[in-house]
Amino acid sequence: MNKQVICIVCPKGCKVLVSEENGVYTTTGNACNRGNIYGIQEAIEPKRMLTSTVKINGALHQRCPVVSSGPIKKELIMEALKVLETISLSAPVTIEQIICHNICDSGVDILVSRTMGKTNDL
Ligand code: SF4
Repeated sequence: MNKQVICIVCPKGCKVLVSEENGVYTTTGNACNRGNIYGIQEAIEPKRMLTSTVKINGALHQRCPVVSSGPIKKELIMEALKVLETISLSAPVTIEQIICHNICDSGVDILVSRTMGKTNDL
């Protein structure tokens, strides 16, 4: 199995070729070991950080930005976004407040990424 990925760990964007033979993964084209780790992860089980917004009541804005506590399996992203659409927060909320534990059994939590006060507190 060969898979070409572009390393997104730094702006250099190396083209990393990941090869697998008998369960052993090797990489070429990466300028450093971070590209080796990223390429193999991307070939075996791609993951992404999840950033989105959820509804919030009683705040200046109607949506509150949120972020995952770590990378989540790419295959779970759409399912996780559907879960986030069902969540409605009430102001005030504080940055890093957990609003969803272990979303989609991913082992990752969803956190508020911006403190938002009540409208009448502003
Ligand atoms: S392999 Fe290393 S140098 Fe190349 S993009 Fe990835 S982190 Fe940057």
